[in-house]
Amino acid sequence: MKMTCINCPMGCQLEVKLNGKEVVVTGNTCARGLAYGKQEFLLPMRTVTSLVKVRQGGVVSVKTSGQVPKSKIFDVLDQLKNIVVDKPVKIGDVIIKDVLGLGVDIVATKNMI
Ligand code: SF4
Repeated sequence: MKMTCINCPMGCQLEVKLNGKEVVVTGNTCARGLAYGKQEFLLPMRTVTSLVKVRQGGVVSVKTSGQVPKSKIFDVLDQLKNIVVDKPVKIGDVIIKDVLGLGVDIVATKNMI
């Protein structure tokens, strides 16, 4: 599997292979690239960003407080479809605690006062 490391502007081109039971990463310049390559190969994770409705009008931007498995992104977005929050909303307010039991919260990333 080929991929670009996104951890710094160097953008090293990684190649990740399975050698028996061992995940082997080549093309990385540093340990962060090694960890990134292994994670992407075994269980790719992403931060999810989206919008939720505000009852008084408009929307507020939100994100997960940490990364979730890439395979769960659409399940997380489904949870946000019917959420309506009331003003005031402040940056960092928890909109959904422990979404889908994934160990991360949905938090506001914008103030709506
Ligand atoms: S492997 Fe290291 S140096 Fe290369 S892009 Fe990733 S973080 Fe940057």
